[in-house]
Amino acid sequence: MEKFYRDDDINVYTSVGEFHEIHKVFRKYKRMHTIACEMRNLWYNKGLFWYILQDPLINVELHGWTHERYKNHDLGPLMNELRMARDYWNQHAARMLGKTSVDELPETKKITTFFPPWNQVSSNIEEACKLLKLRLSYKDEDCHWMFHFWATTPKEVAEKLQ
Ligand SMILES: [Zn+2]
Repeated sequence: MEKFYRDDDINVYTSVGEFHEIHKVFRKYKRMHTIACEMRNLWYNKGLFWYILQDPLINVELHGWTHERYKNHDLGPLMNELRMARDYWNQHAARMLGKTSVDELPETKKITTFFPPWNQVSSNIEEACKLLKLRLSYKDEDCHWMFHFWATTPKEVAEKLQ
């Protein structure tokens, strides 16, 4: 599996303008920008939702429904929440692109990986990911770089991608 340039905490409050300042560096160097999204209400940020949906160099993945300590959750509620988050993305993404099913989404817009908040894991998280057929990724070695678009600069990103 290829390593990620992993950008965390994209959510309904994310400024598409600020995000674009960072993402355009990925465009310049033609690299895939993987984003770990909190899905709750993301659809209401229509500009951002469209931006991350149509850009082929953005790989959309899951950080959760909200930024929660999922390692404290029991298996049932945890599975419900992750499933809800994935379904929420699938449903709105398919609708925005005029598709009838998630199978028709581009590969980069299909959620395949869960990046848990704070990279905290538990046996329930491992089990939930297995049952939901999500890859679980929380290790440095899975990534070229873990960062937050709001805590970096275009210059720093360029240095990482060069
Ligand atoms: Zn986070």
